[in-house]
Amino acid sequence: MDKVKNIVKQNFTAYLEQKGYRKTPERYAILEEIYAHPGHFSVETLFQKMSDKNYRVSKATLYNTLELLLECELVVKHTYKNEMAHYERAENKHHEHLICTLCNRVEEFADDRLEEVLKTVGEKYNFEIHQNMWYVYGICKNCKLKMKKKTENSL
Ligand SMILES: [Zn+2]
Ligand SMILES: [Zn+2]
Repeated sequence: MDKVKNIVKQNFTAYLEQKGYRKTPERYAILEEIYAHPGHFSVETLFQKMSDKNYRVSKATLYNTLELLLECELVVKHTYKNEMAHYERAENKHHEHLICTLCNRVEEFADDRLEEVLKTVGEKYNFEIHQNMWYVYGICKNCKLKMKKKTENSL
């Protein structure tokens, strides 16, 4: 993990220098916080995590730093239907997302067969695939259970 952190930091530094952006401690603190946790986060949850640690950083700085991290591809952004943007660090293992349209819960899954399908599609359309991201919308098991209980109660 520390090795990853160092590489990520080096990449960020190189990017900031190349663009002539300032290398502020806030920007590095945000990067470090993001890479300290796997999974998804929103600006709200990141802001909360940092204030829990008594690290004072404004939301404007968070947004601004996230934009930079997106540009240098250290962070991935997801925008789901009718929901705030979610982010995750870019080194997460490739995975797809199941999104519940009732409670907005996001579950991650990976299946090698999807890669096989994409390979076939790429060959068929003579298309060089670089990246893919699947969002599967539906209703999660918790919500299904709730709905079942509701109908049972109304009987
Ligand atoms: Zn749900
Ligand atoms: Zn994810």
